[in-house]
This record gives sequence, structure tokens and C-alpha cells, in this order.
Amino acid sequence: MRRNMDAAQRLDRALGDELETLKNRALYRLRRITQTPQGAVIVVDGNRCLNFSSNDYLGLAAHPQLADAVHRGVADYGVGSGAAHLVTGHSRAHHALEEELAAFTARPRALLFSSGYLANLGIAVALLGRGDLALQDRLNHASLLDAGLLCGARCRRYAHADAYALALQLTRPARRKLVLSDGVFSMDGDLAPLPQLAMAAQTAGAILMVDDAHGLGVLGASGRGSLEHFNLELAQVPVLMGTLGKAFGAFGAFVAGSEALIETLIQRARTYIYTTAPPAALAEAARAALRLAQADSWRRQHLQALIRRFRAGATQLGLPLLESMTPIQPLLLGETQKALTVSEKLRQRGVLAVAIRPPTVPAGTARLRITLTAGHSEIQVDQLLDALAFAMQGS
Ligand SMILES: *Cc1c(COP(=O)(O)O)cnc(C)c1O
Repeated sequence: MRRNMDAAQRLDRALGDELETLKNRALYRLRRITQTPQGAVIVVDGNRCLNFSSNDYLGLAAHPQLADAVHRGVADYGVGSGAAHLVTGHSRAHHALEEELAAFTARPRALLFSSGYLANLGIAVALLGRGDLALQDRLNHASLLDAGLLCGARCRRYAHADAYALALQLTRPARRKLVLSDGVFSMDGDLAPLPQLAMAAQTAGAILMVDDAHGLGVLGASGRGSLEHFNLELAQVPVLMGTLGKAFGAFGAFVAGSEALIETLIQRARTYIYTTAPPAALAEAARAALRLAQADSWRRQHLQALIRRFRAGATQLGLPLLESMTPIQPLLLGETQKALTVSEKLRQRGVLAVAIRPPTVPAGTARLRITLTAGHSEIQVDQLLDALAFAMQGS
């Protein structure tokens, strides 16, 4: 007993030292407490602010039709799903959503996962093992990088958005080769050169998997994402992962692909098999979101107009914009402390734009990750630009 106490105390002391180091390096992270639904204006830590830090790109997270769908879903199915999909957790609502997602992505089938993170882990583990090769863009989302490590395949990263570097790495011999890429890079907002990646993969007999967490709903005339933007088909991108918690304003994720791919995931994806199905009511919310995302093309048009307005204004102010045509419009600030200082000055002006620091982004590339949504107005974008002009003075 006594020895256990000592071990517990030693652990706390060691952890305390590590936490102290994070604080000293301006890498300590704090959670803000939100008191309102997502939207252009939210109350965070008791303060009303203009919100430029959500992934609610279409402004659907607090939409009444999604809320109604959840209410109806709870009335029809209760709250908890009670079991995994393969036991008794797979409701008619989940099944209908899968069929609608398959139709939306123009693929034979789709399979729901509880989150994008779990979907990525599940795909890699189901498709890859020892003797296989996983090739990743250097700036891929953490869940893709973790998926590569977890599946036991040989993992290599290629230079960001560089199809030529990928092609060189694809010459390695392997049983099966999977190329994994974000469609839209989550912290930079740029698009992967998907046609070139698809070409390199096809040439080498490799499979391309695209994680379109930030493209779906937003890009393409009908919101079908990066693949619609580039006019790519199933043969070029056999594995498509999309999330339901960002532009769709709900929760969860899905994979869309061939019959054989989806059946394989059902049989082999451990993060599908060994976890409780999400509540059916959330599937109903996602169904409502999918309908709105398709019907309300004005959301995408308005968002694109806001992106153009922000970029024109930021260019005039000489702000350090990145090359991005998506709602993710980061300002590259470099040092961690600088990003925190600018973020804090914005907060004093009632603007929330969260600083993103290593290890989420590479060292020396700390930034403000500004995101625009269809819920913002042009006036609010102008207020953001005014606040940025103030906050960037002298920095
Ligand atoms: C957010 C995100 C995920 C994870 O999705 P969740 O549903 O939030 O778990 C995966 N990939 C990318 C690129 C993301 O931005």
C-alpha cells in the first residue's frame, strides 16, 4: 500500500514537471467554456465574441432542422444505441444515412463510424499490415498519421502536396501500397493535388485514400467536396473518408467506396466492430444536414464570397495569408508566443481566433487558424479585419 502511494506520488511529480515545461514553452493548452450553440456569435468563458474558430463551415451545427431531427430521433429510438453496429446498435436511421451518403458521394456503399479519428484508424488496420506500405503527406491530420503507425505497415511521409516525391517513394516494393492524404489540409486550408496523387498512385498500382473532413459540404458545386472539385471518380480514389461533425454540423464520420471495401471494413475494422454505435438521433441529425447541405447551395456561395472578401481585405492589410481557397484562412505568425499574443489582442476586441501551436503544426509555424462559415455576415468579416489590423500592429 505504502509503496503504491509512493509510486502514485512519483508519477504526479513527474507529470507536474512535464506540465511545467509545457507552460514555460507557451505550449500549455487550455479549454474555453462555451455557453451557447455554435454560431457567428458565441459566449465563451462568459464573454460574447465573434467566432472565427469553428469547423461549422455551412452554419448547420445549431440549425433548427437538425435539432428537430434529434428530437424526433430520440422519440423514435431513445438516446443510447445500446450496442455496437454488429450487435443491436445499427438502427434504421443509421442504415438510411449510409444509403444517403452512398448516393451523395456517388459510390456503391457507405459505412458510418463514430468519429473521423476512429474511421481513419479502422481503415488502415483493415487494409494494411506487415509487408504493406503507407505513404502520407507530411502535413496529414494526426488521425491519419496515427492510423499508419497502428496498422503495422511500413510508414513513410512525403513532402507536402508533392506528387513527384510521392512517386519516388512508391517505387519501393510492397505487398499493398496505400497513399493517404487530407483533401483539404486542416491547418493550412490548401487542397492536396489529388489528380496528380491519383496518377502517381495508379502508375504504381497503389490505392489512394482521401480524408475529406474539410472539403465535404464545402467544395464542389453540390458540396461533394475535393473529389467533385477535381472531378475524380471511385477508380482514382477508391477510399473516401468524410466527417459529419464539421460542415454537416452533426457528429460522426463515414467511409464511402466499393461493395468489397465496405464489407471488408465491417468484417475487419476494429474501431467499427468494438465500439458502441452512435445514437440513432445523431444519424437523423446528419440526414437533415445532408439534405440542407445539398438544397441550400446559397450557403456555399455566401461562404465563397466571404472568403474572397476576407482575402482581399487581408491582402490590403499586408497580413501573412497562406495560399488557401477554402474557409480555413490561417495567418502564419511563426513563434508560439506571437500567435498567443495576437490571439489575445483579438480577444480584447471581441474576436475569437484560436492560436494553433506545435505539435499540431510544425515548430516555427504557429498561426491563427481563422475559419469562415456561412453563418458569418460580410459586416462580421469586416469587423474581423478591423480587429486584425489592431492586433497585428507592431508584430
Ligand atoms: C477533424 C478531422 C478528423 C477527425 O474527425 P472527427 O470526426 O472529429 O474525429 C480526421 N481528419 C481530418 C483531416 C480532420 O480535420
